[in-house]
Amino acid sequence: MIEERKMRFYGLKDIDKIPQLQKLSATERFEIKVTAHVLPFRTNNYLVEDLINWDNVPNDPIYQLTFMQKDMLSDEHFNTMADAIKKELPNEEIKKIANQIRYELNPHPAGQMTANVPKLDDEPVQGVQHKYKETCLVFPSSGQTCHAYCTFCFRWAQFVGMNDLKFATDESNRFQTYLKNNNQITDVLFTGGDPMVMTLEKLKIYIEPLLQPEFDHIQNIRIGTKSIAYWPYKYVTDKDADGVIKFFEKIVKSGKHLAIMGHYNHWVELSTEVSQEAVRRIRNTGAEIRTQSPLVKHVNDSAEIWARMWKEQVKYGCIPYYFFVERDTGAKRYFAIPLSEAFEIFRGAYIKVSGLARTVKGPSMSALPGKVTVDGITEINGEKLFVLNFLQGRNPEWCKRPFFAKYDETSTWLDQLTPAFNEKKFFFEDELDKIFHEDHIELAEVF
Ligand code: SF4
Repeated sequence: MIEERKMRFYGLKDIDKIPQLQKLSATERFEIKVTAHVLPFRTNNYLVEDLINWDNVPNDPIYQLTFMQKDMLSDEHFNTMADAIKKELPNEEIKKIANQIRYELNPHPAGQMTANVPKLDDEPVQGVQHKYKETCLVFPSSGQTCHAYCTFCFRWAQFVGMNDLKFATDESNRFQTYLKNNNQITDVLFTGGDPMVMTLEKLKIYIEPLLQPEFDHIQNIRIGTKSIAYWPYKYVTDKDADGVIKFFEKIVKSGKHLAIMGHYNHWVELSTEVSQEAVRRIRNTGAEIRTQSPLVKHVNDSAEIWARMWKEQVKYGCIPYYFFVERDTGAKRYFAIPLSEAFEIFRGAYIKVSGLARTVKGPSMSALPGKVTVDGITEINGEKLFVLNFLQGRNPEWCKRPFFAKYDETSTWLDQLTPAFNEKKFFFEDELDKIFHEDHIELAEVF
């Protein structure tokens, strides 16, 4: 029997109040505070009480996933903020310093703010990204937070109150008009933050209209969410849990395919009774759960962890979907793993699981030109190379055309790679340049 549970958030001001954190030294707690003044920090009672093994702190993966560490900032940034706090500078001063540091942490990677926002009547459609022809991303304004913040989050800039970095719908129906007018769109992905922090009522405001005949071209509704891992009670005992489940059933009965894109970073997140029950209840609605995660140092940086995670997911009926490479933003310096190692971890896990888990794609970079995977490491005419491929491209014609980059052991992202065979550019670069030139966007800013 799973008991009802009240959610309790912990943020920056609660660091001295979380009982489990009192095991740490005052210096360690101060380090958490300093980093949390720059990067967003939020956790909750389920994670602290049920998922983190405090005997294994600081190495515990869920602790690393949700609690700040000193090395997430450079020494310079850390010391600047630490000094400001020690000197007890006024809040406004501290905020200013935090923002200066944040702007140096590449708050919007892959040109998200400028490159992917579509227009309606020559005006940008707020809170929508349309990068690939068939798929449109919608960022509901009420879903721009999460049940806890992942320390590696690539959307961290949304959570730190820098308004000019906010990216969300204005709750008018402009995004619906845009979807209605563009019948090449078959998939809508509601994302955030986490749309499943929204009340059922809000969720319906966004999704219910899409069940009407004028949206027949929208076949697949996806919801990107970390809630099954961070607050599974949402689907089991929360006040609106039964309503959410019934709503999912309604979406499926309407003839749409409902895919819950579950963010899982470690198998521990599927180890509790309530998390398993949440998966069971969601799947019983006819929705499917596809799982995804980036490869994150200190959290899931071994083939064994991934193999076990995929096996557990398949056991509970989820479909492994993406193995991402951590993006170039925020605390990447702490989490990044070179592409060469990422490939070996992916391969090491892939060969350990059955065909049912080999639905997973990766290691994949969501880069400006598209989603690029490292498909292999090979040697041609004595030159060691990365074999790369587009899973999605700004031009769909780029997909499944293997291309090659010189192998190196340190690159962590596509823009650090050099074309192989003494080519000057990758095959897509001129066309990409043209696409952005037409949109008046400086490619150098974003690639
Ligand atoms: S759940 Fe997703 S959006 Fe929310 S903090 Fe984690 S990575 Fe970021």
